Amino acid sequence: MTTTKLIELLRQYEFGGATRRPREISFTVGNKFISVPDISVDGTGDGLFTEICLSLHGDDYPIGPVPDPDTGLMPCGCGGKATIKRGDAAYSGYFAMCSGCECAVGFDRKEDNRAFGEFPDEEQTKTTWNTAMGYKP
Ligand SMILES: [Zn+2]
Repeated sequence: MTTTKLIELLRQYEFGGATRRPREISFTVGNKFISVPDISVDGTGDGLFTEICLSLHGDDYPIGPVPDPDTGLMPCGCGGKATIKRGDAAYSGYFAMCSGCECAVGFDRKEDNRAFGEFPDEEQTKTTWNTAMGYKP
């Protein structure tokens, strides 16, 4: 987005509400809502570069992938979506697997080739998968 487009966008919404008062700005980064963002201008690129470099201050904003809001599972490193599954009938444990590359945590096969899940419940499966994918709550 260019600064011209950003300014046009902001003008379009400024004073546009029912109260006709100036609007405040908030951000949603990943799944975190930032109601009063602390923003500064780091540089204006007065030379070869034409951008405006903004900094959003604070150290608790999620940077990078965050868990899927529906499943609570981080995306796989390949970009694929993970799901929690159960082992075959005789083996009732849980495991998590990526639909893209089929990497898994807690998955094994028994001697009879049936899928076996190593985790006793979905919560432990989710926690382990998310930890493996770099999630830091
Ligand atoms: Zn994957």
